[in-house]
Amino acid sequence: MSRPPAAAGSGARRTRCPRCGFPVLRQLVGRRAALDVTADAAELSAEAAEALHHPNRLHWCLRATRDGPEMRWADCRRRPETCPHPHVIDHECTGPPASPQRARTPPVPDGQLTL
Ligand SMILES: [Zn+2]
Repeated sequence: MSRPPAAAGSGARRTRCPRCGFPVLRQLVGRRAALDVTADAAELSAEAAEALHHPNRLHWCLRATRDGPEMRWADCRRRPETCPHPHVIDHECTGPPASPQRARTPPVPDGQLTL
């Protein structure tokens, strides 16, 4: 049928988290089941990233390519001390929830201003 979306090889985009404004890298990582990754833009050593990660917070091997930085699965995790590449770790957002429910503000529709 149709080809899969051009996920792999598209490189990481430097952007900011829409919620907390923190600089992050976004990329679809992986060839078959691409993961939509948002990682802190701050670069760590592989060992530091490995120390910070937990099961819900992966880290990524950041490779410099012709087209800019690209996040890869950190296959080097088994021996992080041997990895010469910087690593980045999943962004843990400290901003407000994306869709606040039952906010304490009165339910005024967008665009309706009180003059
Ligand atoms: Zn954030």
